[in-house]
Amino acid sequence: MQVAVADTVGLYLSFPFCRSKCTYCNFASGVYPASEHDRYLNRLVEDIESSFDWAESVRVELPKVVDTIYLGGGTPSLLEPELIHRLFGAIHAAFRVEGNAEITMECAPGQLQDATLFAMAEVGVNRVSLGVQSFIDSEASASGRLHKRSDVLDDVERLRAAGITNLNLDLIAGLSGQTLSSWDESLAVLLDTGVPHASIYMLEVDEDSRLGRELLVGGHRYHADLVPTDEAIVRMYEKAAERLHNAGLQQYEISNFARPCSASRHNLRYWQRRPYLGLGLDASSALVARFHPDAHANKTLPRPLLRCKTTDDLRTYLTGLKHVEADWLFVAEQFEEAWFLGLRMNRGVDLQSLRSEFGAERVESALESVTKLGANGLVSKAGETVTLTARGRLLSNEVFQEFLTERDLCATGAVRVS
Ligand code: SF4
Repeated sequence: MQVAVADTVGLYLSFPFCRSKCTYCNFASGVYPASEHDRYLNRLVEDIESSFDWAESVRVELPKVVDTIYLGGGTPSLLEPELIHRLFGAIHAAFRVEGNAEITMECAPGQLQDATLFAMAEVGVNRVSLGVQSFIDSEASASGRLHKRSDVLDDVERLRAAGITNLNLDLIAGLSGQTLSSWDESLAVLLDTGVPHASIYMLEVDEDSRLGRELLVGGHRYHADLVPTDEAIVRMYEKAAERLHNAGLQQYEISNFARPCSASRHNLRYWQRRPYLGLGLDASSALVARFHPDAHANKTLPRPLLRCKTTDDLRTYLTGLKHVEADWLFVAEQFEEAWFLGLRMNRGVDLQSLRSEFGAERVESALESVTKLGANGLVSKAGETVTLTARGRLLSNEVFQEFLTERDLCATGAVRVS
């Protein structure tokens, strides 16, 4: 999959406002007065309008044609209708959005006003991701969510009535108070809705969330004492994979399951290493350079890839700072990414494509890692395709580290520099 030949781009736009903060959340989102929405939107529109000047200044290709748009958060469904129209007006003025573009908006159940829903349909939103996390009201409430099961079911009906039928429901395995039987109930309700897509995440906690801090130091306020064991979380994940598979939602990525033709086109961009532009707070971009490095005698090798990220501090963002962290990925780093992003997908890594992109020699040397991981039951190789095994999906970080160079491991802290 060559990034350099792409002629379309995906747009990711963040809206980092929420009505309450979930206990497990480590995103750059917060609870701010609605008056901030307008200010933030103005800033976001400025970024959209200056996208091509910015791309020119950092010497990256920015295709004019957009085939996926993803409004993530935060809670974009809190956007007032007028702001939704202003946002899409700016997108259409700057880019050419394909007629069949996938346009996704993340919504918090129970917080979608009729006027917002109409505005979404009017601007062409055709996919909605609902952050359900659990259909058990006490579990949702313990994690700081404001909705009940009935709110989710109502929203699914309302969205379908508005013509938005491409729906995703998120569930998290590992919420406080969750048991194997309550998890089974959440899965059953999800399947009853008949949605074409589900995302199943295993709870990941770190010190950037209130629940994570409490797990580290102890306490009851955020119900850290009721978080299931790692073994129970693994069993929940395995149960979900089995039940979803039996119901016709095939796993296509570690956390994602879909009926035929319903995989998220936008999210596939990330794993297929296709370009995307992220605008707004804490948004990531990956765009291909316009140039080959001087050292590239061989111009068939991939051009550098710019990975950059905007600030995660709202005040800083509102003052006008654009991308704050930027890294150029050259051939070696892109080769590593080809492995660990490719392996996330159930279709795996195609060795022939890797050879034509990066050269046979580099691929042959990586096959030593494949053999080693295969012996440990973490990957399997069938012909020219390497995939994660079910065990490998559970231990994916261990697998991905195998494809990182020593330099990257130092950067991630997995190897200490003495
Ligand atoms: S709704 Fe999402 S972004 Fe907002 S606090 Fe909860 S997890 Fe974080």
